[in-house]
Amino acid sequence: MPNRKTLERTLTQIDGRGYASYKQLIGTYQLGAIQLAIDHVQVDPYAPPSRMRVILDPNTAKLPADLTNDVTGRRAVADFLTRRFSEIAHHVLPPPSGTGNSGLVSIGQPGQEILERTSVVIASDRIEARIDVGLPASGRRARGLKASKLLTSLLPKVTEASLVFANLDQRALREHVVLHRDQEWLRSQLSPRGLVAFVGDGAILPRRSGDSDLPLSDKAAVPFSSPDSLRVNFQLPSGKRIAGMGIPEGVTIIVGGGYHGKSTLLRAIERGVYPHVAGDGREWVISRADAVSIRAEDGRAVTGVNISPFISNLPSGIDTRSFSTTNASGSTSQATNLVEAIDAGASTLLIDEDTSATNFMIRDEPMRTLIPADREPITPFVDRVQPIFTELGVSTILVAGGSGAFFSVADRIISLDHYVAHDVTNEARKIAPESWEAGRTGRNSSSPVFSYDWASRVPTPSSLVREVNQKPAKSRGTTILFAGETINLSAVSQLVDPAQNQAIARALDRITALADGRMSIRDLILAVEGRIDTDGLDWLSPFNGHPGHLARPRHYELHAALNRLRGLCLTGT
Ligand code: ADP
Ligand code: MG
Repeated sequence: MPNRKTLERTLTQIDGRGYASYKQLIGTYQLGAIQLAIDHVQVDPYAPPSRMRVILDPNTAKLPADLTNDVTGRRAVADFLTRRFSEIAHHVLPPPSGTGNSGLVSIGQPGQEILERTSVVIASDRIEARIDVGLPASGRRARGLKASKLLTSLLPKVTEASLVFANLDQRALREHVVLHRDQEWLRSQLSPRGLVAFVGDGAILPRRSGDSDLPLSDKAAVPFSSPDSLRVNFQLPSGKRIAGMGIPEGVTIIVGGGYHGKSTLLRAIERGVYPHVAGDGREWVISRADAVSIRAEDGRAVTGVNISPFISNLPSGIDTRSFSTTNASGSTSQATNLVEAIDAGASTLLIDEDTSATNFMIRDEPMRTLIPADREPITPFVDRVQPIFTELGVSTILVAGGSGAFFSVADRIISLDHYVAHDVTNEARKIAPESWEAGRTGRNSSSPVFSYDWASRVPTPSSLVREVNQKPAKSRGTTILFAGETINLSAVSQLVDPAQNQAIARALDRITALADGRMSIRDLILAVEGRIDTDGLDWLSPFNGHPGHLARPRHYELHAALNRLRGLCLTGT
């Protein structure tokens, strides 16, 4: 294998030549204890940076086996190493200077959540970090000597400082792993304990600002505290005990005056499907992994979804058992989002009045009197929320500050008063005891509830490949460019990291390759998930070596992306 000398010599020769001469660097170099694999070299200084990997032997990294002997442990260690590499690179390396992205070294930017990523891999035969390096340039000239210092001296330093156990803050690493294991253990206990979410006493739920995911300062934030009636305790595997509010299965309504923290609580629960890092404030907000946010999203495209449980007898005579539109309304989009989430296996629906279509949610008594049910196409969610639980086992947590309509169908009601949670179920029931009885039995129990034929949702291969020489899917912000169109995921609120969107783009290409006109959307996504489980997230990438920066999305978000494709066609429709 070529060594440091070879790399230095090549870079010295390249110095001052055209940028394209960097191409000859591709290959793997032994730099002392570290291997540097240069997998891809950028075409010019402004192009996306070059993809490289630094590789260590496990006997050099010496990560303790008890931290890396399970998937959860490895995910936490990989996350820790990624953050560490990023910090150390920031401190050790000179700030990027020169043309384009000259001198930039990046490993991706993890946020407050701990996700399965491609940035660091801990395998039995190697520890590998996948990095982006902007090869230095002045104008279009290669700065070979600068590159030589960066690759043969600085980068190995950063690698040793951030991937070798002896050089790490060992206590912090251990705590990171223990926290992550405790969090995932608690999540695994929710279902057996009949809970859908847990919010720990002392949690800091509000964020610093609308555009920051960091916690509001301790002084300004009111820490969460559970109502006594809902308090549950867990003895965690680490030995730590933790107490907080357990939200049981069923229908839970969150009420309270405007600005009293309702949406903030729901949002934390929505993010609680992912584990959070220490210091985030939401470390102990843990939701079932299959809790899905549902909102109105007018304008979205819908293809062949059975929304008849909510909407039927449209004036146009459209069959809502297989509803398609290129421009859904507030109510039809929310019905679609809900049905699709249940299709994808959601056990819990999270709904906020702020982002809901009122006519989808409720219909008040004067309106029921004025417009008889047979002339109103919409059966509001308030009439369906109990059957969705009793018949399908799907729970709901709903923020409803503006209407008491849900009191009668709620299993419990939590009020927020100056950010403090109270259990007001009994008070609310006293307000309308008869309607509570009626609500339990269902106002509309005779009308059809959910029946699915998911096998019928089979995409036609031609609707996934709509261009000759179709380019690979690509994510840009909250959109994905795929099959000649732009899929808008801005309303898919449980996507938390651009690297997840990147992974969705890759997954769409994999799905396209698998689609045979027989496999349903569900089968296709299951197949992709299965491959990721066995072969790792790297499998999504078409590249050898450095797979790009990917973070694993949940399969709900994969469904969401495919279901929003405007050109999607299903066989038999
Ligand atoms: P609601 O949905 O009830 O109208 P929000 O959840 O939107 O209220 O919260 C209103 C404001 O209060 C937001 O700016 C939010 O950051 C802040 N906030 C929410 N919870 C807390 C808390 N526990 N401590 C301090 N501020 C909070
Ligand atoms: Mg709100």
